[in-house]
Amino acid sequence: MTTFAPSTPGEHGTSAAGGAEERPAGGAEPARGTAPGTPGTLTVLDPRDGSRVGDVVEADREAVVDAVRRARAAHDAWMRTDAAARGQLLHEAAAALRERAPELAALNQRETGKPQGDSLGGVLAGADTLRQYAEIGPLHRGRSLVGAREAADFTIDQPRGVVAAITPWNDPVAVACGLLGAALVTGNTVVHKPSERCPHVGELLGEIVAGVLPADVLVTVSGGALTGAALTEQPDVDAVAHVGSTATGRRIARVAALTGAHVVLENGGDDALLVDADVDPAWAAEQAAIGAFANAGQICTSVERVYVHRAVAPAFVEALVAEATRRNERGELGPLVDGRLRDEVQRQVDDALAGGARALVGGAVPAGPGSWYPATVLVDCTSRMTVMQEETFGPVAPVQVVDDFDEALALACADRYGLAATVLTGSIAHANRAVAELPVGTVKVNAVFGGAPGGSAQPRGESGAGFGYGPELLDEMTLTKVVHYGVPVLPGERGATPRSAGGADEAPRTVATAGSADTAGLASPGSPAEGGAPAAPADPPADTTTGRTPHPQDPAEGGDPDDDTGTGTGTGDEGAGGDQPRVHPSQPAEGED
Ligand code: NAD
Repeated sequence: MTTFAPSTPGEHGTSAAGGAEERPAGGAEPARGTAPGTPGTLTVLDPRDGSRVGDVVEADREAVVDAVRRARAAHDAWMRTDAAARGQLLHEAAAALRERAPELAALNQRETGKPQGDSLGGVLAGADTLRQYAEIGPLHRGRSLVGAREAADFTIDQPRGVVAAITPWNDPVAVACGLLGAALVTGNTVVHKPSERCPHVGELLGEIVAGVLPADVLVTVSGGALTGAALTEQPDVDAVAHVGSTATGRRIARVAALTGAHVVLENGGDDALLVDADVDPAWAAEQAAIGAFANAGQICTSVERVYVHRAVAPAFVEALVAEATRRNERGELGPLVDGRLRDEVQRQVDDALAGGARALVGGAVPAGPGSWYPATVLVDCTSRMTVMQEETFGPVAPVQVVDDFDEALALACADRYGLAATVLTGSIAHANRAVAELPVGTVKVNAVFGGAPGGSAQPRGESGAGFGYGPELLDEMTLTKVVHYGVPVLPGERGATPRSAGGADEAPRTVATAGSADTAGLASPGSPAEGGAPAAPADPPADTTTGRTPHPQDPAEGGDPDDDTGTGTGTGDEGAGGDQPRVHPSQPAEGED
């Protein structure tokens, strides 16, 4: 249930009713939806002035169970819907999103403070993402394999089932549309849990997209951490895709390890910017400012720490201070999403100042309502400071001066996150070393943002796991099945003389015997005996008692790979191990990782 307050600012109340709320140390504002106990009501405040945007009732466990049950019930029909038809419906969803983009953008601005232009851009980017998945989803396909001449071997991709999509607030529509688009177009049904910081945006997005889909193909549940945790714990959820903080991602991964759900995590980052000795310091400062201050620093791939070569450091810092000052004077930055986040940013800045850093601009919470924070430049930073080690989700550019590129690269690499990094350099050798050595998913050379469409990577370290976007997200949302079609034995054909390989009118089978090609050492590493994908031997003999043609993935001679009773007809593993459990052919051989 949702209620909206009028959009006129004024009231500065703060509350999240329901369970006892968890208050951050020293914070004036209650955490939203993170209380232990029973979910309650989320009260959303406009970060620009603290006025009340509205209330949303959090989904409790019962509501979550019901949402998953509905999504499961809708799955069969949705899975059977032609991929092209699913793509067409996503096109319609994209069009509906475009139509309502101004409304959604205005709501996003009220809930998260994201400036109007950026909010609108995020909604339109979301619509574009749906459109892209509408196009590439139906083209997502298996592979044709090279098997026996008369056989057919190929892979097909099938939907995982019910996907839980759990998303953040910092670009709520664009991020959610990526997960929803990829999951839906591949035939999954989805339960979406938007961020508690923008539940009205999440609900309106759900209403728009679900409005063009069959009932319950997309179900939205509102709430905070408790609701998200309840969703993750559902045994009937087949995959959990989470975009958000590293701490949450880790919690989700632990829970999913117990339920067996597949997990895709796009989490936090601590992206380094390396400024080499040979670049224009003013240009480098522009790049640093864009990277650190865009969306008030609330981007997963924001510049989080700057390593600048001593030779250009003074001019670089001077130009960066000018960039920050100009943004502050013109009021270009939006506020941070709420007081809780602003407290955390200030805590990190205070820690740096206490450790010897200096704030040349910004660095303090301004007076007045709302959760504004100025563009901030910190100098004299060291690696020991939290601001250099942790993600700072605010407009803070901490600068550390280095003696050479080696030092910059070593410092950039020494980090527990692994999302992205940027190097500004005129040296191809330095660029190449950065590309080779930085332990991150995305490396950018001479531009902090940008990149070709479809360029997705797995984050490294504590920044996540799997492909969270791009064409590869379609792989994450599907399961691959290998298919082998052999040739049936028709009445009267058994025992017929095999004909020689040749024209289409010849007998449709040859018999593999000891000494034939695959037993003479020519089998691929994937041949059944080796426990991998099927090789391409001649057709195996039919079982003379059952008439069944053994599957090429069966261990050795056609036993049931899951039959560990020792009574199967296969010989491969039992032969060596007596009644030891049979090794499944898809398992790596002993000693392999
Ligand atoms: P968050 O992890 O706190 O919240 C994200 C979502 O997870 C919310 O819907 C929240 O309710 C839910 N959640 C919280 N606790 C949960 C639990 N125990 N179980 C299940 N769900 C739970 O993150 P946030 O503060 O909303 O977003 C900011 C973070 O997101 C930053 O760290 C940022 O770097 C990251 N982010 C990453 C990417 C990326 O592509 N790597 C993109 C955007 C944001």
